[in-house]
Amino acid sequence: MSKFDDMKKIRDELLVFKGSPLFEYRTVNHYFPVIGEGSHDAKIMFVGEAPGMNEAKTGKPFCGASGKFLTELVEHIGLKREQVYITNVVKDRPPENRDPTPDEIALYAPFLDRQIEIIQPRIIATLGRHSMSYVMKKFDLELELEPISKIHGRAFETKASYGPLTIVTLYHPAAALYNGSMREVLKKDVEVLKKYV
Ligand code: URA
Repeated sequence: MSKFDDMKKIRDELLVFKGSPLFEYRTVNHYFPVIGEGSHDAKIMFVGEAPGMNEAKTGKPFCGASGKFLTELVEHIGLKREQVYITNVVKDRPPENRDPTPDEIALYAPFLDRQIEIIQPRIIATLGRHSMSYVMKKFDLELELEPISKIHGRAFETKASYGPLTIVTLYHPAAALYNGSMREVLKKDVEVLKKYV
């Protein structure tokens, strides 16, 4: 099967993912699951937390205000948004933009795991603490986990099934929407990725 077919299978499964506690909320609101977007051959994969309202309405990740800033961050390191792959741990919008619960993360994470295997990125940049925590634990970096205020902008070397992998821990771009100085922190942190571009 091609990467495209493997990714389509994930989408088809998510479309009928009735086992999720978020399925009914999606259906009554006519929302979409948000699978991910970008190059299936991307070297860098960005992983956010869960879709917001704009994302659930369109089925596209990071297409609202924080997405605009994420695009700026990608361009800041000399790439176009289409050259990276952007997704989330949780693929359906939690009500009222609340944080995803540990159960929801556990339920949706296998889809992210499969996406990582399909794309085989050299670098995963996590956006926010939930994504950081899931991805670092998955790749045997649990002992290095600290609050994001301490380890933002760091690069951790690890191994994936397909080869070496670097995890870069970034604040969530939404943090910059309410705090101007955070914009500069995120811009500086994302520069860690330049080395791999
Ligand atoms: N926040 C996220 O974590 N993901 C999105 O897709 C949009 C906002």
